[in-house]
Amino acid sequence: MRRVIHWFRRDLRITDNTALWHACNESDEIIPVYILSTWKKRHSWTGPNRQEFLCGCLESLSRNLEAIGGRLILRAGDPVQELEKLIHETHADRIYFNRGTDPYSIEVQQQLEQVSEKLNIQTFSYKDTTIFDPNEVLTREGHPFRVFTPYARTWHQQEKPSILPKIRTLQTLPPLFSLPVPTLDYWGLTSESKIIESGEKAARKRLTDFLNGAIGAYREKRNFPGERVTSRLSQDLRFGTLSPRQVYFGCVEASKETSGTIRRSIDSYVNELVWREFYMQILAHFPGVLDDDFSDQFFALQWDENDSALKRWCDGVTGFPIVDAGMRELNATGFMPNRVRMIVAMFLTKDLHLHWRKGERYFMQKLVDGDMALNNGGWQWSAGTGADAAPYFRIQNPWSQTKRYDPAGLYIKTWVPELREVDPIRFTQSPTARLAKDYPMPIVDHAAERLKTLERFNRARRGAVSVSVRARRAAAM
Ligand SMILES: Cc1cc2nc3c(=O)[nH]c(=O)nc-3n(C[C@H](O)[C@H](O)[C@H](O)COP(=O)(O)OP(=O)(O)OC[C@H]3O[C@@H](n4cnc5c(N)ncnc54)[C@H](O)[C@@H]3O)c2cc1C
Repeated sequence: MRRVIHWFRRDLRITDNTALWHACNESDEIIPVYILSTWKKRHSWTGPNRQEFLCGCLESLSRNLEAIGGRLILRAGDPVQELEKLIHETHADRIYFNRGTDPYSIEVQQQLEQVSEKLNIQTFSYKDTTIFDPNEVLTREGHPFRVFTPYARTWHQQEKPSILPKIRTLQTLPPLFSLPVPTLDYWGLTSESKIIESGEKAARKRLTDFLNGAIGAYREKRNFPGERVTSRLSQDLRFGTLSPRQVYFGCVEASKETSGTIRRSIDSYVNELVWREFYMQILAHFPGVLDDDFSDQFFALQWDENDSALKRWCDGVTGFPIVDAGMRELNATGFMPNRVRMIVAMFLTKDLHLHWRKGERYFMQKLVDGDMALNNGGWQWSAGTGADAAPYFRIQNPWSQTKRYDPAGLYIKTWVPELREVDPIRFTQSPTARLAKDYPMPIVDHAAERLKTLERFNRARRGAVSVSVRARRAAAM
């Protein structure tokens, strides 16, 4: 009789879950456990939106496990200590889990390996959060890729792991203590946004709806925030209510039934899944990106300190309608479309000259899909400091971005009610008078700030910034 533990992490589903599937096949009894972290003390990088989504995922996971005969055990605290206690309580002799690829997950995994060795139990870890592990897609010389295109080419050439068969039954014995499924109260939080529905069933429905509908228009319309054609699966990939294989092979199947424009549209969607894995391998191989620029060209770049400008950006009252619409959507729902994320990120870093880390942190506190690797990648891309980033001189103009991607003001009018009666043509050019009585004038002049940014980047590149600026920058962080 073999009794094992399955440790749930970023894999909150029972379908196509690699470690859970192996645990089921290689044991008689499974103890499926999730350990709530005391995030308030340890991570200042999350907030009510992501915690609320997590609560919903745990609720759904608990129901799904019960439906196949199992029971989710919830504990709280340091994961390694809690797993150790559970081993003593249950006499399980194996722990199964899916590997994380960020530096914190890797550290916990290493600690668990040490404890397991001490207790003489075996750990079995699997690739699951990505289609390829960071070490599976490498250059011919065996180095990590720093540039997306050759990474993507290699990614596409490799054979993908298949979707696993369904788990039909799972036995959880003996009766064990479990905390109740938490609500936000557990962390002393209250709900602050209207977030998307959580859980495996809701995630699968989103995927099916997308594959049967909007994916055909994805390539053409994905950058138009008012059109809402993107998949809205980022939080599901983040929490593992879907596996990346389910999404990828869903695309492969959809591709078989079609050709031409729609197939190209599906390909461009798959390309985004590859960007996801590209950033995850960047963080795994270069964990220093969480603290510093990926590129060492701009070490001496001068950033400003301006709390009131930061607050206006966070609150969505900069007087730039597209920026304000994005920030208000983020504050109201914990989501923002990719094009708008790029616009607000470039605005913070290149119009307000505030460090990308300030925006990165605010996003992590608000985004339901907040993911250390993708968020850092997106911020450093926008700031021009990242892996395969936008060239520093490519500074998006919020007015012309609006003209191109929200010409009828659909998106802006949804999120900035003060502007609902304004002619959308006025959102596409720097105003000389207020757009509406209750709406502020632009906080800066984009043309002037663009020149300032170019000058700062050029100065940093020439290495002409004095050592005292470096020292000031270090002191400010
Ligand atoms: C400044 C900035 C911060 C970001 N922070 C995050 C974050 O914390 N978490 C997160 O999941 N995404 C982040 N992104 C990437 C992207 O904006 C979101 O993944 C996307 O908007 C989610 O919506 P969707 O699921 O409808 O995307 P779709 O367009 O339908 O894309 C499908 C999936 O591909 C992946 N993906 C899409 N765009 C990107 C991209 N540019 N880079 C990497 N992967 C991508 C996501 O997993 C997404 O769910 C960030 C982008 C920027 C510019």
